[in-house]
Parts: sequence; C-alpha cells; structure tokens
Amino acid sequence: QPHRTHLSFKASDLTYRLTSHPKPKPANPEECAFGSHYTDHMLSVKWDEENGWGIPCIKPLENLSLHPATSVFHYAIELFEGMKAFHTEDNRIAMFRPMENMKRMYMSAERSCLPTFDQKELLDCISELVRVDQDWVPRSNKASLYIRPTMIGTEPSLGVQRSLSALLYCILSPVGPYFKTGTLNPVSLLADPKYIRAAEGGAGAYKLGSNYGPTISIQHEAEKQGFQQVLWLYGDNQQLTEVGTMNVFVFWINDHGDKELVTASLDRGLILPGVIRSSLLELAKQWGEFKVTEGVITMEDIILKLQENRILEIFGTGTACVVCPVERIRYMGKDYHIPTMENGPYVAKKYYKQLTDIQYGKVQHEWSHTV
Ligand code: PMP
Repeated sequence: QPHRTHLSFKASDLTYRLTSHPKPKPANPEECAFGSHYTDHMLSVKWDEENGWGIPCIKPLENLSLHPATSVFHYAIELFEGMKAFHTEDNRIAMFRPMENMKRMYMSAERSCLPTFDQKELLDCISELVRVDQDWVPRSNKASLYIRPTMIGTEPSLGVQRSLSALLYCILSPVGPYFKTGTLNPVSLLADPKYIRAAEGGAGAYKLGSNYGPTISIQHEAEKQGFQQVLWLYGDNQQLTEVGTMNVFVFWINDHGDKELVTASLDRGLILPGVIRSSLLELAKQWGEFKVTEGVITMEDIILKLQENRILEIFGTGTACVVCPVERIRYMGKDYHIPTMENGPYVAKKYYKQLTDIQYGKVQHEWSHTV
C-alpha cells in the first residue's frame, strides 16, 4: 500500500454544515481569558492510510468521540499551531504571516509520522472557517481571534507505532490582550538548571503537544515561588533557550563595546522557530541600528554583563504577547534584577509597536494576509 501523504485535501471541496443555534458572543472580548470562549464552528478533515484525506468540512463545534485506545491519548501523537486573526483599522480581517505556521505545522506532521498536506490548501480552509465565524473576530485593537489548528493520531490501537488514521481540525477562540493595562508589563523568571525543555536530537523544534505536558509542573513550581514564567536553560554552560512558551532575546553591549541583539540559534533543534522571532530578526536586520546575532547565550554571560551594566533588555517573543519584557531572574538561589524597563525598553517597545501596527493594519505590510 503506497503511503499517500503527498496527496492533500482541497479548499474547493469544502462542505458546510452551519449551526442553527449560534452562541452569544462575549460582551467584552477584551476581557476574554485565553481559551475561555470558542466560536460556533470548526474545520475538520479525516485521513486514513487506505483512502488518504477525506473531504474537509466546516461544522458546528462539537465533541470528539474516540476509542479509549486511540493513539493520541497514549503516546501523545498530536501537533498544533497557534496563530491569530485581527480586525484591522482599514476594516479587513487579517492574519499575520500564516504561511509560516502552515510550514511549521507541515514539519510537525512529518516529525510525528502524521500525514502531510498542501500548506496553501490548509490555509484556504482555515481562512474560510474564519470568514464563516467572522463576527467573532473582536472589533478591537486590543483583542484578536486565536486560531488553533490541530492534528491527532486516531489509530484505535495500543501499538507504539505510526498512526494509520488521523484527524486534522481547527478551532477558534476570541482572546483579550496579553497586557491588560496596555503597557508592556515585565515578568520574572525562575531558571532552574535541573530541568530542560528540549534536548539535541529531541523534538523541541516542533510544535508537538508532547513538548508541553512535561513543562506544566515546572511552570506550576515557578508560580508557587512567585515567578510568572520558566527560563529554560540547556547544557553544562546553562544556555538560555526559551522563556515559557516564548523565544528569548537579549539586547546587550558585546565584547567589542557595540549594542547587539542576540537570540538562541535554531541549529541544534532545541528551539521552537517562532514566527515572531523570525519577524523580529528580519526587522532588526533591515533597521540596521545594531548587530543582530543568532548564537549561544549563557547564564555566565548574563551575570558577567549584568555586573558591568551591559545588559540593556531581556524579553520573550511569541504570538500571545508579541514581546514580553523580563525584569528578574532567579538562578541558583540568587535573584538578578534585569534593567529591561529602565532601558525603555527601547528595543522591546519598538518591535511591539512595529509588529502590532502590521497586525492591526495601521501600516500596510506584506506580512498581513487578508482573510
Ligand atoms: N517557543 C515555544 C515553546 C512556543 O510554544 C511558542 C509559541 N508558539 C514560541 C516559542 C513562539 O512562537 P511564535 O512566535 O510562532 O508564536
């Protein structure tokens, strides 16, 4: 039997079963907590080894019914994406660089032995879902519609093996602002070298559910100790890799006395290749005001440069918050104050504005994809 994963479903085949009972929309979407509300419809496509992809359909959001042996429940054969649609100032509904998410989802599917698909066809199906539920896209420049494409292995078997059937679906959720006060609120981080998020040769560069489950107890531990996020370190030299579910950036004065923006490099597969990360790198390179480097950042570097007042800003980046400043790191029983806020934060603020201006259509940019 040939492996038919090279074939794809097509947006032109979409079928529709629309709800006759639309739900009330949240009165104040700016107050919606992440993942607390869902729209009326979902996209759904089935796949199996024998028949390949089925017909994609948009239908009322409904529960799944799966055999208790289904592979997603036992071996976490699951992947997902996270992206957003915005109501723009010029009255469009737009996504931010959605093909980047499609590409990453394709890579996650390959890594999981789940079926691949035509990335543009999937984006067209998701865009159509967003159009069907367009009244759920908050008309606010403080809120957005979070888009969660997902794929699960649906093989009803306990064998630790490739799933011979799968379900791809997408759900939508209106979300309020990450920073409720409107300014970039800084976070404090717990950096405990006992734990790592990913390892060389592992799957940390892919957006698989199995990368996230084991982080929750560490995140919980950080919260119990009064920190908002975990700073994920790696290796004997304790390299900074990611902040919670964000990529990490440091703006510092390097050994040549020059200002430099540094982020962990992707080459060893330790880091999720964030869409905001790559956007910020591109903008910073175009901007040309300081050196931009993908490399290794160690805790020793941070501590040394802090003593010499050479750390200007540390911040995380991701779809949820765009940029998130860091004000404190607890490492080996010591608290280190990071002067991000005292320094503007110049770089964090600049990119927060540039990227949100593109997302909400205040400026025209090729990264804004009209739905
Ligand atoms: N790292 C991790 C571990 C993440 O889960 C995310 C969120 N997808 C990111 C970084 C940021 O990626 P993006 O900029 O694509 O949201």
